[in-house]
Amino acid sequence: MKKFIFVLGVFLLVFGISCATEEMVGCILMPISGVLYFFGTTSKEFFAVFTMALGKYFIMAGVFILATALIFLIPTKRKEISDDVKNFKWKKFGIWKKRRTLFQIFILSLITFHICLVHFGHLNIPSMCPRSSTDLATVGTFGLSAVYWGTMYLLVFIWGRFICSWFCVYSFVQEQSNNLLRSFNKKVKTTVKHNKIIYVVTSIFWGSVIYNFLVFYMNNDTVYFQITNGYKVADLWVFLGGMATMLPLTMFLSHYFGNRFFCKYVCPVGGLISIYSRVGLLKIKIDYDKCKQCKLCSRDCQMGVSINKLIEKKSPAILDGNCIACGDCIDRCKFSALSFGINFPDVTGTIKRMAERIKGHKKEELGGVQ
Ligand code: SF4
Ligand code: SF4
Ligand code: SF4
Repeated sequence: MKKFIFVLGVFLLVFGISCATEEMVGCILMPISGVLYFFGTTSKEFFAVFTMALGKYFIMAGVFILATALIFLIPTKRKEISDDVKNFKWKKFGIWKKRRTLFQIFILSLITFHICLVHFGHLNIPSMCPRSSTDLATVGTFGLSAVYWGTMYLLVFIWGRFICSWFCVYSFVQEQSNNLLRSFNKKVKTTVKHNKIIYVVTSIFWGSVIYNFLVFYMNNDTVYFQITNGYKVADLWVFLGGMATMLPLTMFLSHYFGNRFFCKYVCPVGGLISIYSRVGLLKIKIDYDKCKQCKLCSRDCQMGVSINKLIEKKSPAILDGNCIACGDCIDRCKFSALSFGINFPDVTGTIKRMAERIKGHKKEELGGVQ
C-alpha cells in the first residue's frame, strides 16, 4: 500500500512536470499525433489543455502524496539495508558500450548547449525535434529540422540505424534506464513480440503526414521554407522536464514491457528506417572461422535480434531491420567473431531470387492450366 502511494506520487509528479514543460505534448503523446493529423490538427493544438496551469496542480498533488508516502516509508526501527541497495554496482561496460555512451553524452551536451543559447536569446535556431518537422509539414512549412531529418533518413543507406544507438537522445535515456534497473538486479525483458505493431503505427503516422501535406498543397498551391521555422521547444525547461519525466517512465516501461519498448512498438522514425536500414552499408559482420556458435551474442541484444538464427543461415552480416548497430553483441562475443564492417547489399542475388520465384509461380500456374 505504501509503495502504491509512492508510485502514484511519482506518476502525478512526472505527469505534472511533463504538462508544465510541454513534454506531454512534445514527446509522450507523439505516437497519436498521426491520428490527429487525419483530423487536420496538430498535436500541439489538440493537447493545448496540458498546460502549465494544469501541470502545477499535478505537481502539487504529486509532491504532497510523495511527502506523505515518504513519511510512512521512513522506518521506525533500524532496518537492514536491502540486498538490492547493498549490491548496487554500475554494470561493467564493454568497449563499444563505453564508446557509445561517451558519444551520446557528447551529443547530449551539444543539444544542451544549443538549448541554452536559444533559451538565453543568443541564437534563433529551433529544435531538431522530428515531431516539429512533421507537424509543420502538415501545414506546408519546412525548416531546418526538416533538412536535418531528411539528411538523417538518407544517411541510413550508409550507416543503417546508427542514429538509433548513437545519436537519438531517447536512446541514451532508455539505455541508462536499463543500466539502472539492472544495477538494482531488476529484470529487463529483451525479446521482441508483436513487432508488426510498429508498422501499423508508422503507416498511420507517415500516411497522415503525407496526406495532410498534399491536402495543404492542393488548397494553397505552395509550400514555405524558412530556415528558422520550427517549434520553439528549444527551451531549457522543456528539455529538463523531458529528462526528469522520461527516466522513471522508461524504467517502468522497460521493466514491465521490455527493453526499448518505445523503439520496438511506437516510434515512427524507427519504424520507417527499419524498413530500409537492412540495405545500409555499415553492418555487424560475422566471421565464421572464429564463431563457435555459443549463442552468447543473442542473449542480450537490446532490440531482440535473433543473431543465432542469422548465424545458422550463414548470413554474412547481421541483416535485420531491428539492428541498431549498437555494438553490444561485439562486446559480448569472446571469440572476436563479430565486428563492424561494410556489407554491400546483394542486389543481383536478390533480383535473381525474385526472378526465380516469379518463374516458379508462372510454371505452377501453367501446369495448373494444362
Ligand atoms: S527508434 Fe526512435 S526512439 Fe528509438 S532510438 Fe530510434 S529514433 Fe530514437
Ligand atoms: S558470441 Fe561470438 S562465437 Fe558465440 S555465437 Fe555469437 S558470434 Fe559466434
Ligand atoms: S544485433 Fe548487435 S548491434 Fe544489432 S542491436 Fe543487437 S546487439 Fe546491437
